[in-house]
Formats: sequence, structure tokens, C-alpha cells
Amino acid sequence: MAAGSILWFRQDLRLFDQPAVRAVAADGPVLPVYVLDDETPGDWRIGAAQRWWLHHSLKGLSAALEDKGAPLLLLRGKCDEVLAELARETGIRRVHAVQHHEPWWRRAEARLAKSVELVLHHGATLAPPEQVTSRTGASYRVFTPFWRALLDQMPPHKPEAAPQSLKPLPKPPRGEALADWKLLPRRPDWAKGFDVWTPGEEGAKAALRHFLPEVADYDATRNLPSVEGTSRLSPHLHFGEISPATVWHMASKQAHARAGPFLRELAWRDFALGQVQQFPRLGEENGREQFDGFSWRSINARSGKADFEAWTRGRTGYPIIDAGMRQLWATGWMHNRVRMIAASFLIKHLLIDWQHGARWFWGTLVDADYGNNSMNWQWVAGTGVDSAPFYRIMAPLSQSAKFNAADYIREWVPELSDLDDAHIHEPWTAPSPPAGYPEPLIGHAEARARALAALDAVKSGK
Ligand code: FAD
Repeated sequence: MAAGSILWFRQDLRLFDQPAVRAVAADGPVLPVYVLDDETPGDWRIGAAQRWWLHHSLKGLSAALEDKGAPLLLLRGKCDEVLAELARETGIRRVHAVQHHEPWWRRAEARLAKSVELVLHHGATLAPPEQVTSRTGASYRVFTPFWRALLDQMPPHKPEAAPQSLKPLPKPPRGEALADWKLLPRRPDWAKGFDVWTPGEEGAKAALRHFLPEVADYDATRNLPSVEGTSRLSPHLHFGEISPATVWHMASKQAHARAGPFLRELAWRDFALGQVQQFPRLGEENGREQFDGFSWRSINARSGKADFEAWTRGRTGYPIIDAGMRQLWATGWMHNRVRMIAASFLIKHLLIDWQHGARWFWGTLVDADYGNNSMNWQWVAGTGVDSAPFYRIMAPLSQSAKFNAADYIREWVPELSDLDDAHIHEPWTAPSPPAGYPEPLIGHAEARARALAALDAVKSGK
């Protein structure tokens, strides 16, 4: 058996406060590896927007590892088989990795552990999900008690520096070239608007530094889509380019007690992963079985298909929703308040199953995350174990006015940019409505009545 360790990267593409990196640094020669695996996650393989992100993030990680002395090996295939083969080839039996909670990773970890010594480290969340439990040891299903229990364990560990250097294998195997993975879009290059992002560990640190002066005002601005009031750390956190512990400590240091609302929001990410741990099929099954019999409109039938397409393209006739869906398409990200409004509209106004929306988000978001995406869609739909009730139907027009989305709409729906604040939320009320902007797909009152009737039907078992 050869000395040293394989260092397996997944959604933990960083060197700072990365526990597996720290562990291998003290354990002889290191072989860092990333496996591009489209098989293990099944239907949840990484989507197009995230492939763009992954390309850039891996480029940054490769350069950083090269700098430390142990270059990153890129391999492709079913991760547990590829790693088992790598262990045989190199004679290294120990694999260090950060633990992840998505069901496909857990299954892969269990398979891999049969052929190698797999050492998993806590590092993807603020606290290990299995440690945030009630006094009887039960996992939480509702956020507020979860938050209280998590707070009892906070602050998280102090972030740890990256090792000065890593000792490479004398003769590392040859891997693949990143460019050959063709992760970036070509013809058409729909990612031009993604240049608002800087993927990678350095980009994550810069995003945090940029946001820190705003932390104390987060509660006042986080719901305003026209204002840059949130951190935009979500893709960095998803890919593990920065640890949640680092974010926690830096935000607390910056704003002390006023960091509370931001830290609470950060904790939703831990809560979501705890939900995934309890309900591995969170992305494909209703948390409340009652909704299994709900009469959703089919997106294969003509009118459902047309409505779904209008939603995906930002042509619903509701400016706030269209702005959000276009922001998503152009940049791979959407403001949280608008995500809620757009999701609610798809589910309750258009009566389209939340799973279709969640899948669309999966392919288009740079921060697409099995826990966060599934939990939030189920929360909005009212189908989750902790969620807003279905009958609470968001009114897109009043939401748009209440959260002052006028400038946001002007930015993303340019055909409405000449409308004043009084008319921009409802362009059809303008003295001369702009040509080319669609009529609303359905009126709010009509949609609300239809949704409540569908809810009544499922409740009474009709
Ligand atoms: P901030 O407001 O700065 O929050 C900091 C961090 O806390 C975020 O980066 C995120 O990691 C976490 N966080 C904040 N709000 C939530 C939340 N409601 N649930 C879970 N974690 C949260 N978030 C994703 O990361 N990936 C997804 O795929 C995703 N899908 C969503 C789908 C719907 C329908 C909705 C309503 C929300 C979804 N969210 C998702 C949650 C939220 O919209 C984003 O995390 C947030 O908008 C990211 O922007 P930010 O980094 O500026 O957030």
C-alpha cells in the first residue's frame, strides 16, 4: 500500500477552511481529484448554468493547488468506481472528502467505503445536520425550533487557514483536460450575462468582502429587488468555495448583534440540508401526501404548455415575474423575493406542479441546490412539511408595488422602461400601454378562485 491520500473534491472547491484539505496536508503525499459524474446524481446531474460555473471554479482550484504543489487530477465517470480504480492504480487506500448530504452522494459514499478507507469531514454546513436535534434526538421539521437549537451550537468552529503546501505524489496519473469537458456553452453562447460573477474561491472572498458593509442593513433591504441588499453568495456556498463558518464569523465580526437577520437566513441552508437528510426524495415527492391527488394542469397539453413556456421566457404579462425570469435566464440568479413570487405564480395562478418549476430552476440557476431549491419550492407550494399554506396566494401586483420593484422591472423588461412608477407594475393601466408586451396570462381574482377550487377538490377527495 502506498503512503498518502486521495483528496476528493465535490461541492467544496476551496482550500481555506476545507477540513479534508487540512487533514491530507498532515498525511504524506496528496492526490487531489475532481470527478465529473453525470451518472451518480441521475436526474439531478449538474445543469447547464452550473456547468459554466464549474468550469471557472475548477480552473481557479487547479491553479491554487498547482501553487501549493499538488496539481488537481480531473477524471470523468461514476465517482465511486473511478475513485476505487484510482486507489488500485496508485496503491493509495485512503480517501479524504467533505461530507455531503444529497442522497446520491450518500449512496456513492457508502459504495466507495466498501473498497477504500473513506474519511469524511464535516464542513458543508454550520453544524452537522444529525447534531441539530431536539432533546429526544428527533430532527426538526419546522424552522424556528431548528434555528433555536442551531443557535445553541453557534458560533461554528473558527475557520482554519489553508496549508502552506501540499506534497504531491512522485508520479501522479494523467487526467483529462478541463477544456475537453466542454462545460461552457457555445453556439449560442447564452452565458454572456454571467460576467456579473467571478466563480472560484477568490471570487467568493471578494463577494463576501463586497457585502460585509451591508450586513447591518440586510433586514431592511433584503426584500427589495431594485436594491443590491443581499450577499449573492449562494453559488459560492453551493460549490463550497467559501465555508458557511467563514461567512458566519465574518458577518458577526462586521455587524455584531445586527448580523442576526442575515445569519438566520444563512441557517435556512442548514435547515434545507437537514430536510434532505430526513426526506431524501424532497425534490421529487410532496412532503404532504394530500397533494399527490392535486389536479395540476399538464404541461404537455396545449394550454398548459403555452403557459409554462411563457413563464420560462418571462412573457406572463406580469412585469415583476417577467423581470425575474429574464434576470434568471440572463445571469443564472434571481432575487429571493422574486423567486417566491414567480414560483407562487407558476403553482397557484397557472396551476402547474411545482416540480416543473423546480426543474427549470435546476437547469438555469448558478446556485441550483437540491436542498435549497426543493425545500423552497415545496415551501411556496404549501406541499412541504414546513411551508406556507397553499391557500396563501401571493398577489404579484401588490408584491411588486410593496417591494418597490420599479427599477428592477426597468432593468430586466426594457420594453417597459419608459413607464412611470404608477403604471410600471400594471402596464395595461398606462394611458398608452407599450406595444409588444403581453397581456396577463390570467387575472389574479380568476386565478385565485381556480386555485382555491382545486384545493377544495383535493381536500374533499373529489
Ligand atoms: P442572502 O440573502 O445573502 O443569503 C445568504 C445565504 O443564505 C444564501 O446565499 C443562501 O445560501 C442562504 N439562504 C438565503 N435564503 C435562503 C432560503 N430561503 N433557503 C435556503 N437558503 C437560503 N437558494 C439556493 O442556494 N439554491 C437554490 O436552488 C434555490 N432555489 C430557490 C427556489 C425558490 C422557489 C425560492 C423561493 C428560493 C430558492 N433559494 C435557493 C433560496 C434563496 O432564494 C437564495 O438562496 C438567495 O436568493 C440567494 O441569494 P443571496 O446569496 O444573495 O442570499
